[in-house]
Amino acid sequence: MDRPSIIRKTAADLRVPPNLSDYAATCATFDWDAVRAELAGLPGGGLNIAHEAVERHACGPLHDKVAFRFLGTHSSRDIRYGELSRLTNRFANVLKALGVGKGERLFLLSGRIPELYVTVLGSFKNGTVVSPLFSAFGPEPIATRIKLGEGAVLVTTELLYERKVAKIRDQLPTLRHVLLVGEDGQATNVPGTLDFGTLMAQASDDFTIVPTGPEDLSLLHFTSGTTGTPKGAMHVHGAVATHWATGKYALDLHADDIYWCTADPGWVTGTSYGIIAPLLHGVTSIVDEADFDAERWYRILDEQKVSVWYTAPTAIRMLMKAGAEIARKHAYPSLRFVASVGEPLNPEAVWWGKEVLGLPIHDNWWQTETGGIMIANTPAFDIKPGSMGRPLPGIEAAIVKKESDGKVSPVDTADTEGELALKAGWPSMLRGYLHNEERYKKCFAGEWYLTGDLAKRDADGWFWFVGRADDVIKSAGHLIGPFEVESALMEHPAVAEAGVIGKPDEVVGEVVKAFVSLKKGFEASDTLRLELLGHARKKLGAAVAPKEIDFLPSLPRTRSGKIMRRLLKARELGLPEGDTSTLESS
Ligand code: ATP
Ligand code: MG
Repeated sequence: MDRPSIIRKTAADLRVPPNLSDYAATCATFDWDAVRAELAGLPGGGLNIAHEAVERHACGPLHDKVAFRFLGTHSSRDIRYGELSRLTNRFANVLKALGVGKGERLFLLSGRIPELYVTVLGSFKNGTVVSPLFSAFGPEPIATRIKLGEGAVLVTTELLYERKVAKIRDQLPTLRHVLLVGEDGQATNVPGTLDFGTLMAQASDDFTIVPTGPEDLSLLHFTSGTTGTPKGAMHVHGAVATHWATGKYALDLHADDIYWCTADPGWVTGTSYGIIAPLLHGVTSIVDEADFDAERWYRILDEQKVSVWYTAPTAIRMLMKAGAEIARKHAYPSLRFVASVGEPLNPEAVWWGKEVLGLPIHDNWWQTETGGIMIANTPAFDIKPGSMGRPLPGIEAAIVKKESDGKVSPVDTADTEGELALKAGWPSMLRGYLHNEERYKKCFAGEWYLTGDLAKRDADGWFWFVGRADDVIKSAGHLIGPFEVESALMEHPAVAEAGVIGKPDEVVGEVVKAFVSLKKGFEASDTLRLELLGHARKKLGAAVAPKEIDFLPSLPRTRSGKIMRRLLKARELGLPEGDTSTLESS
């Protein structure tokens, strides 16, 4: 379907005054020191994420406000700011009593249960560095990460321990303590482990936060592994300034919001925006403990009166695939802002939001390495579907080109493709890749942090994602970004998702090959293949359109929901699959 290239915003689109209303003026006057001044800081000096996120509110008027509402399969549990403060104090005391000190690393392997959230924030209070893992990881990826991170403590559930950790425990000599959360609050009794609940019950409610400074480590987050072996990005407590500013400007959080971030804390979005940013702004967060289910998700949006929703393209595509009828069983009068991150958001998905939820989806861009949102579409401004928006206040982004001497320089001309770079120095920038100084150094050229993504900036200053540098296809002298081809395919009513690769070809270098999965009610056939090839050629022209299309029931994805094009390619060419530790099992 042909649609306008811009979604104009009017005052009627804004149900509350937006936090970012004058883009130019806010960017011009923005100052990170002013943001830091908004934060309380530790009473004796220093900075700690948990103090900003929890203590500040627990000691003030938000003491009785719900911080998290956990939705289980059959019941729900609310944790208020005051209770969160006590529970996290208890957990910090547990660590202290176990002799776990500042800077040591704690790994987390669990579903989205209350204990996970208490562990993260309690660890911050103790100065302990947290590394969350996806609960669906198998034993191998768990062992690799704990070994690399020299984990001293693991917090997990009895079930996950028995299934995944018990058999690898002897490979993990640094692991001094394993704490188990029992099923349904039952105490556990597993040799070589401690019971989380018992330790918490014995611990005191009072704890003085261990003095941490802005440069002390807070989180070790592994990247999604979309392009290769996941890297351990190290983050600091000072990152909280970015979480605060982006919670305000990119997510537009207001005090009375009911906010739902669907990301799992095994992925950086689930910690930066599933835990830290909403607490900083004193809002109530919904946490769904269950896995994706279209019907359930629409019900949550409706019944929980979610006002701000932060999700990902993969989830949106799954909702699209499930069909609009399910969405129409519910109404979303409270919803006022929807944002997405993780992958390029196809224009089709932006429009789907408008048609089905009554609101367009606002794409934003960032990486594990950036620690927070860098480029975003925000409520007050027009959306150009397919664009990731503009750099947030405090962030300087540019398209750069590399000179032969390795230096980079910004490209001033609009619509030129090149590597997306950020002026180094924002507060949540990674401080290193664990045990990989070489790789870390390669991220920087002079004052620029190089993202490894290709993009372009239009004449109005909106940024457009082209593709990851590794995924870009070189065909007959053209550089083709897979996103453009995938978006065109998604415009066809039969297509649910598309992944595009370059397949080596002696004549043209690489030919464009697409893999698509179909929406409910459509069958793969040669006729449909020809129709899709024709559709793409009409949209993109013969030079860019795919020459081959294969149908797959679903595309290989990382656990954070990203299409793994490198795997599509390896399988197509019969090459080794490389690191598949983050591959979602279907
Ligand atoms: P790895 O670095 O291990 O290959 P990864 O890059 O997928 O994995 P993340 O840090 O989770 O790990 O993802 C960041 C990347 O996701 C970005 O560099 C970009 O390629 C992609 N991305 C995130 N948001 C967007 C977006 N809004 N539009 C386009 N791409 C996005
Ligand atoms: Mg990456």
